[in-house]
Amino acid sequence: MIRPAPNIDAVPASTPFVGPEQLMRESGRSELVRLGANESAFGPSPKAVAAMSAELERLSWYGDPESYDLREALAAKHGCRTEELVVGAGIDDVMGLAVRAFVEPGATAITTRGSYPTFDYHVRGHSGHLAVVPYRDDGTVDLDALAEAAHRERAKIVYLANPDNPSGTFATRGEVERFAAALPDDALLFLDEAYADFVDEGELPPPGISDAVVRTRTFSKAYGMAGARIGYAIASQSNVQTFGKIRLQYGVNRNAQVGALASLADETFRERVVRETADAREDYYAIASELGMGHIRSRTNFVCIDAGSAQRANRIVKELLARGVWIRKPGAPPLDRYVRVSAGTPPMRRAFADALREIVASEAAA
Ligand SMILES: *Cc1c(COP(=O)(O)O)cnc(C)c1O
Repeated sequence: MIRPAPNIDAVPASTPFVGPEQLMRESGRSELVRLGANESAFGPSPKAVAAMSAELERLSWYGDPESYDLREALAAKHGCRTEELVVGAGIDDVMGLAVRAFVEPGATAITTRGSYPTFDYHVRGHSGHLAVVPYRDDGTVDLDALAEAAHRERAKIVYLANPDNPSGTFATRGEVERFAAALPDDALLFLDEAYADFVDEGELPPPGISDAVVRTRTFSKAYGMAGARIGYAIASQSNVQTFGKIRLQYGVNRNAQVGALASLADETFRERVVRETADAREDYYAIASELGMGHIRSRTNFVCIDAGSAQRANRIVKELLARGVWIRKPGAPPLDRYVRVSAGTPPMRRAFADALREIVASEAAA
């Protein structure tokens, strides 16, 4: 009889993300206002689009397996060496490398309960043991509890998203530095900085390369290239060499390499996206308070709005979808009473606000 390897057979089937495409198939809709996945509503840089379009004819070629040109540009941006960078098909890909490289089957990984689910997915898929710590009530990551759990559980890897998803909260540079210092000597800190582009570089720890930290960045959020699948890690040369043993040599889309390089050269575009995103956050804070709902102040391209209970939050997500507006919500307490909406263009924000007003009004009438 053909059976999967026992450790894989034991992995519970799970879908970390139900895509809007599936929701459209299920509901028979041909369109949704996409505010659920923290994709950029502002698109990629026109310079990236032009460079990628011009490059399309060479799609018969593999990309450079070393992503050398891109790594050179990134080394200049971050003040590190090309040997301290590894490019992958998004942070999700690089995260899988770190889990495979540092978590042997049965070993423990620590994360915040309800934070970015792909980390959990990789740990489970690689037969690791996942230990979790809850968020604080205000939606911040409990760094003290994470560090304590890392010692108690003898963790091999500790996950921190900063700024965090889904809360949008941010730990200061000093807090992150103290946290990193408080971890066990043999635990790797996986510092996921998917939303780094929305804060000032000076608010983040300096690139100080060490074997104990792998930091990740992406072109999926502020650069608006989620569909191209490209991201990278800044890590020690030794860790980059380790990842080189197991990474897919041709896993990075050739066209994405070209687009990422062109995006880096268009800082003006990214700055505009960051400004528009700040406007979007303010609009969401305003609609929340107009409707008597609280919110968590966010440093990202999304906002968590307080629905008061998980039950109401779930209903709001469903009712918005029925009105053609797709958002998501955190799944675990204490954040499960919030709904999470991504920064949209002004018309998308209006569609969200109108639908939410309608839903709240019909609650009042019921
Ligand atoms: C969006 C997101 C990612 C995924 O990044 P990709 O580069 O698209 O794989 C990783 N981590 C966090 C916290 C995210 O929100």
